[in-house]
Amino acid sequence: MAEKSLSEQRKKALFRQPKNGRLTADDATLSAVDAFCEGYKRFLDSAKTEREAVKTALALAKDAGFAPYDPAKSYAPGDRYFVNNRGKAAALVTVGQEPAANGVCITAAHIDSPRLDLKPNPLYEELELALLKTHYYGGIKKYQWTAIPLALHGVFAKTDGTVVPVSIGEREDEPCFVVNDLLPHLAQEQAKRKLGDGVRGEELNVLIGSHPFRDDAGSELVKLHILELLFEKYGVTEADFLSAELECVPAFHARDLGLDRSMIGAYGQDDRVCAYCALQAALEVAHPRKTVITVLADKEETGSDGNTGLNSAFLLHLVQDIAAAQGTTADRVLRASVCLSADVNAATDPTFADVMEKRNAAFLNYGAVLTKYTGARGKADTSDASAEYIASLRALLDANGVVWQLGELGRVDVGGGGTVAKYIANLGVDVVDLGVPVLSMHAPFETTAKFDVYMTYRTMRVFAEQPPAPVRPA
Ligand code: MN
Ligand code: MN
Repeated sequence: MAEKSLSEQRKKALFRQPKNGRLTADDATLSAVDAFCEGYKRFLDSAKTEREAVKTALALAKDAGFAPYDPAKSYAPGDRYFVNNRGKAAALVTVGQEPAANGVCITAAHIDSPRLDLKPNPLYEELELALLKTHYYGGIKKYQWTAIPLALHGVFAKTDGTVVPVSIGEREDEPCFVVNDLLPHLAQEQAKRKLGDGVRGEELNVLIGSHPFRDDAGSELVKLHILELLFEKYGVTEADFLSAELECVPAFHARDLGLDRSMIGAYGQDDRVCAYCALQAALEVAHPRKTVITVLADKEETGSDGNTGLNSAFLLHLVQDIAAAQGTTADRVLRASVCLSADVNAATDPTFADVMEKRNAAFLNYGAVLTKYTGARGKADTSDASAEYIASLRALLDANGVVWQLGELGRVDVGGGGTVAKYIANLGVDVVDLGVPVLSMHAPFETTAKFDVYMTYRTMRVFAEQPPAPVRPA
């Protein structure tokens, strides 16, 4: 073999040379990637809403020795508990060997995803069809939600105090629903609309029935028949929609994607992919040095406001309880703490590569993506992670053989977005975004690479096992 030229040798020493992780991974790693993603796909199918994600996650947590938080109990190192925030968000805690005053190790992912929520008074009949009015949740391209099978998930909360869970449309033997779109033959006027306006918010009406209640007299017989069916199945009347949370989500299941099965296609991977990775790490790290807190947050897609989102005092109250139990204060704990804001970032799509600046973009199969800042318009609305904090994460990931990459969310001024990072950073914690690169983010069917999913899980594990030091205020 010819000797390397001087410039080649110097390049090897000085250049950053990212590689496709599948080129360098050994067979054992690739088997572990596949095995891990089987569990991930099952999780996705049983967690299509934030409520179902909490239920599924807490069932797994109970199996791993977590119990509901008991304020009267005193917790020792290795003890595990969870806090269930209204069935829509949750936090898992494993008490560390070190006192909380030395800082805790937080991983926060969100379990809500874009979808079509039913309006409070959704059901109506027109032209002898029964439909449901929706109000979309999160940032969607509305045209993507037409003419695909939808399932209905959520709860009716009744005035007698009972909460009736709803799930229709997931099983093959159940009916599904649809938002109809105009046929191309008659869409000349619609085609002149701008894409963002191609299908409008008030046009996202879900078809739920066409069979009339069998009586000659009276009007709205199709709607009446639907209410009869709902009463039969759930014991609810039209008024119960007023106190319901019902969400239309794609009725697809998580599947392998690509002839080589290297990817996963599924609804809701933003951000249940990071939620699952964080959850698995939390279940597996049984005796952490520092207390490990894993947050599964709601409402990220609408800006994290509300009592189940991370712009609430939910996390602060949790840390206050931990601090009080150990005779310290939450501000002391938080100032010494570190956090991974576990959220997805955009992967570069060859078809739409021009929205990316390729030197600072994330790619499928290049591993977990570390995002120093998100935001828009000159880094507004974001936490910009400290260089010192990122340096310690680089060291941690490299030392543990975790494949990772950096990624900005698109070219400067092309758009932008945000995560929960800033809300936790605002508490005085060192935070950086890290997660899985995704194609078609926020679409009904999102694409991830299995390799990146596994490397994100590996990141969460080593982070919980060996949390980096915080960048303490001088
Ligand atoms: Mn997200
Ligand atoms: Mn999102």
